[in-house]
Amino acid sequence: MSVVGIDVGFQSCYVAVARAGGIETVANEYSDRSTPACVSFGPRNRSVGAAAKGQVVTNCKNTVQGFKRFHGRAFLDPYVQSAKSSLVYDLAQMPSGMTGIKVMYMEEEKVFSIEQVTAMLLTKLKETAETAMKKPVADCVISVPSFYTDAERRSVIDAAQIAGLNCLRLMNETTAVTLAYGIYKQDLPAPEEKPRNVVFVDLGHSGYQVSVCAFNKGKLKMLASAFDAELGGKDFDEVLVNHFCEEFGKKYKLDVKTKPRALVRLYQECEKLKKLMSANSSDLPLNIECFMNDIDVTGKLNRGHFEEMCAGLLAKVEAPLHSVMEQAKLKKEDIYAVEIVGGASRIPAVKERVSKFFGKELSTTLNADEAVARGCALQCAILSPAFKVREFSITDVVHYPISLKWNSAAEEGLSDCEVFPRNHAAPFSKVLTFYRREPFSLEAYYNNPKELPYPDPTIGQFIVQKVVPQANGESSKVKVKVRVNVHGVFSVSSASLVELLKPNEGEEPMETDSAGKEEESKMQTEQDDQKAKGDGQKDDADKKSETEEMETSEDGKQEKNHAPSAKKPKVKTKTVELPIENSLHWQLTNDLVNLFMENEGKMIMQDKLEKERNDAKNNVEEYVYEMRDKLHGVLEKFVSESDRDTFALRLEDTENWLYDDGEDQQKQVYIDKLAELKKLGQPVQERYIEAEERPKAFDELGRHIQQYMKIVEAYKTKEEQYEHLDELEMLKVDKQVNDAMIWMNSKMNAQSKQNFTQEPAVKVQEIQAKTKELYSACNPIVSKPKPKVEIPKDEKEEQNGPINGQEDTDAQPGSPEKGAAGSTVAPESAEGNKMPEMDID
Ligand code: ATP
Ligand code: MG
Repeated sequence: MSVVGIDVGFQSCYVAVARAGGIETVANEYSDRSTPACVSFGPRNRSVGAAAKGQVVTNCKNTVQGFKRFHGRAFLDPYVQSAKSSLVYDLAQMPSGMTGIKVMYMEEEKVFSIEQVTAMLLTKLKETAETAMKKPVADCVISVPSFYTDAERRSVIDAAQIAGLNCLRLMNETTAVTLAYGIYKQDLPAPEEKPRNVVFVDLGHSGYQVSVCAFNKGKLKMLASAFDAELGGKDFDEVLVNHFCEEFGKKYKLDVKTKPRALVRLYQECEKLKKLMSANSSDLPLNIECFMNDIDVTGKLNRGHFEEMCAGLLAKVEAPLHSVMEQAKLKKEDIYAVEIVGGASRIPAVKERVSKFFGKELSTTLNADEAVARGCALQCAILSPAFKVREFSITDVVHYPISLKWNSAAEEGLSDCEVFPRNHAAPFSKVLTFYRREPFSLEAYYNNPKELPYPDPTIGQFIVQKVVPQANGESSKVKVKVRVNVHGVFSVSSASLVELLKPNEGEEPMETDSAGKEEESKMQTEQDDQKAKGDGQKDDADKKSETEEMETSEDGKQEKNHAPSAKKPKVKTKTVELPIENSLHWQLTNDLVNLFMENEGKMIMQDKLEKERNDAKNNVEEYVYEMRDKLHGVLEKFVSESDRDTFALRLEDTENWLYDDGEDQQKQVYIDKLAELKKLGQPVQERYIEAEERPKAFDELGRHIQQYMKIVEAYKTKEEQYEHLDELEMLKVDKQVNDAMIWMNSKMNAQSKQNFTQEPAVKVQEIQAKTKELYSACNPIVSKPKPKVEIPKDEKEEQNGPINGQEDTDAQPGSPEKGAAGSTVAPESAEGNKMPEMDID
């Protein structure tokens, strides 16, 4: 199982993994930890991330960015319609009515759903994680803005599935940040003490999120959250773009908004300027060469002026801060720290406002860009059975109050009930009891549409099927479990009918007061109690994603309270599970998700083939340039003049071909072309390499010969060090050394008569084999240790060094295989194969 956290930002994405005992944000193929949320479509392939970002100007109509907030939205949604006007690429309506993105791909006009586009991005991020971890990745935790509604969340879950990811939890960005903050804190108050309240502020490119969280040792509890979904770094960019459009209109008579390419460049430059202004308060220039109609434009701005222009945006900073404090019923003195994250939180005027509101210095202990991804990876590690993480319980909240509506015969009309109030703990299940004779439907909706950053309060309709009356014709008791799950998504997760049985008929005796009830639609709410156990609890792999332990149903508790059970006769019952038909707001059908998965697979394959084709082409190009240089450089003397001319001509022909017929060929054509060229080039290169390596190989052999000769000489002169060696064996060494010397001299002699353009008389490999042969024959004989001499005990104590004296390293040539130093590699420890363990301490 993989432990991966993914922050899919509006502008940039981050991937964090659990590795080597900690959480690490990993870099992409450009060694960058941030990957632009950008997908570019071409005639032969797609590019994603940094490669796509590079095409924002050159292929602007088919390069898609800023699509995060189209998730779960209809094409006609007011947000989509208003965003559409400022996009350089086209949007289109999907057959389902949802938002699609219209681009030219593979030389055809295509409309991709937003789930498909995000899946393309996720495919890239998945690959980044796989490259870093050197293994396949599926399990992960993905972040979403806390203000996402169900439709938006479900759309992201579908995107993950299309990309082949198993999203264990959709984590609210705010909650991910609180986890990244809290889990490392050693000094949190004990569980029974007053919690430490910390406010978190995240200002990203598209959204502004504030939350307040209570920390105790081993747990965090979100208290409240607030947001402004219409405030982010991009709005500050927009102010700058409008300012310069106006200025350039007056100064240069340019209508910038009519030229998508110019507009894209202006956005890029304005964003750079905005960042520079965060660090510098003096006048700063904005210059763009050949901006439009070959005109170079220049402008300037300073922070003071920028802040004046952004007064309207800056005024929006305070409301969510106020809202969380009010919701959580906290006073400013109750706040221990205010942590800020998100790229746009670096704008000094934003920091100033937040700091002023709380009357305290802001804290920046987290990595402002990576905290969300790191929090997600931590959550994934907690969910993974393979990692040991300090136990930490996470209680999130329901962001919008959720109500259920149903037809009620007793009350003659619609009844409704708020099942999850705002800031109710999540994930959470509740059991509702109905009395019904026939199937019935429940409609779930957000009951405060005004606060939704989404135009439609509908969540979905759930039909509880196969409801039948009791045998005596009375209403049946139907228990319906409603749930806000780990992804923050509402569902009617199960329903069951309690069938009353005649005595001795049932299997599950149960005391109940419901027998004989006449009401048609009375509802009891039986709240789950939340166990103190928490998320940190390890469970079996299947249950992990559900954090079921937080949701132990206390079914029956309430019944007992108002059931005078002692007096009631015992009624036997049987529980029958009932099917539920869901009709969720803007939910992709399973068939469509499967089709998109299949298509994503095909597109991945197409990208791979195109990459291979391109690589094959580049290999030919590189070989041509490399050889052309070398033929007049290092290889010059290893090729005859006529061969060189032929080869140079072939290289030139190939270069011309690459810009002509060879511009666009199949992969195999390039492979064959390279092979043809190599037929000419390879022998020359080999002769060069042989000539380079040969002297070193002869030196090595010579060194071995000399060393063994020295030992033979020392043995003959009866040096004490060698007197234990065997005479016959030493004769063998003597002979081997002489033979090797004769071989070497004859080969050196033959080689000296050869021309550089001819095949060498002896190959480096042969010389190395000779060295090895000499070593294998002689080394075991000459390195035999001297027999041990018994030393009297008291003498022994005075000795510090080795008893048999120093090893004569000088006279012991290293193995040719080990290299001169004779180093050996320690065998891999058995520990290396163990499952990694991570202690977040
Ligand atoms: P979101 O959270 O809305 O989905 P995101 O996660 O992609 O978006 P971030 O990466 O947190 O957004 O922030 C990007 C924004 O921060 C951009 O608008 C960028 O220009 C802005 N930004 C980054 N650095 C600075 C800086 N030094 N000064 C001002 N703005 C900055
Ligand atoms: Mg973000």
